[in-house]
Amino acid sequence: MKTPNPSATVTINSIAKKKQLAGEIVYNFAAGDPILRTHETILNGVIEETKNGFSPYPPVDGLPELKTLAANWLNQEYDSAFTPSQVLVTTGGKFALFAALYVLLEQGDEVLIPSPYWVSYPEMVSMANGKPIFIASTKENAWKITPKSLLSHISPKSKILLLNSASNPTGSVYTHKELEELLDIAKSHNLLVLSDEVYSGLIYENTPFISCSSFPEHRDRVIVVQSCSKNFGMTGWRVGFAFGPEKIIKSLCAFQGQTTTAAAWMSQWAAIYALKNKKAVNSYVKKEMLIRRDLFVSTYNALFQEPIKAPGSAIYAFVSLQSLGVQKMQNSVLFCEQIIAASNVALVPGIAFGQEGYVRFAFSETETSIENGLHLLKKAIDTLFP
Ligand code: PLP
Repeated sequence: MKTPNPSATVTINSIAKKKQLAGEIVYNFAAGDPILRTHETILNGVIEETKNGFSPYPPVDGLPELKTLAANWLNQEYDSAFTPSQVLVTTGGKFALFAALYVLLEQGDEVLIPSPYWVSYPEMVSMANGKPIFIASTKENAWKITPKSLLSHISPKSKILLLNSASNPTGSVYTHKELEELLDIAKSHNLLVLSDEVYSGLIYENTPFISCSSFPEHRDRVIVVQSCSKNFGMTGWRVGFAFGPEKIIKSLCAFQGQTTTAAAWMSQWAAIYALKNKKAVNSYVKKEMLIRRDLFVSTYNALFQEPIKAPGSAIYAFVSLQSLGVQKMQNSVLFCEQIIAASNVALVPGIAFGQEGYVRFAFSETETSIENGLHLLKKAIDTLFP
């Protein structure tokens, strides 16, 4: 039996869910799920579309209207140049990532992954018969890799550079110049670039979001993964996208045809209404996440001695145990286990993202949960780690 390792976020989340089922209140900083009501225009749109009573198998590549809207979204907002035939609608961005890795990798091919990384990348690469190669980054360098660090990890077996800007867990966003340098290196070493851009719509500072698909000279090697989940507050609807060269998209489509068939028909309609109203829906989510981020940071900084900076994007804060006032422990798994047992506060251990001595908070929960959870966390740390 080939059982993949469960994702660490899912594991902590299931401990949290078990406690909730037992009637306990859990303060869940682990989930990375914007707890928001789906935007009204999406709900109303889907209700209208379902009234005719039919829900046939959708086309494997996605509903034509959705593919056109998705291409326009990236072309208008991120300077891309995709045609609808370069778009595949998938069951969440997660499946787009896995499908791309699955079809592109041959046994033993290496995938270069900047670390800290999103928890699912290494396992997905291994399931697709590839080998993850991690490129460490540091807080001092804003958790970004450099041309030098990329170059020093490239080998004859390197096949894909897997980038994630804006990043989960660190919130770092690569600039135009930084991406250009990395893409130039990818080109000169014949690497494909799998660019996970699922947080592109949640940038809070003035730094503009730059898509890897905005560089015309690199479009033949870039595959962009996008999603409605976080940009439009639609995690449960499970709609994502792969954008890229037509030949690659056709191959991903064949893989999808033999596995999931397509994203659910009703969910694709929800995505159509989200994209038709993308400005309103995204500002609704972004505004709410910004309120929660600011509440998270101000509460945190009032409670803990070492202040943190407000994350510039996404929905996460990546914080060292040391800055939480925990001096003698580096084991993030042990720390998170002790904290959830003592206070019902769920955090994700940094090691799940490849970085020991850190934990990740998702600040996407409700405001009450953020405030109460942080107070309980502080109390638990003072008791457990005096
Ligand atoms: N990529 C990153 C970096 C993520 O954090 C997530 C979800 O948390 C995904 C991809 C997948 O998102 P979804 O499958 O919900 O579109």
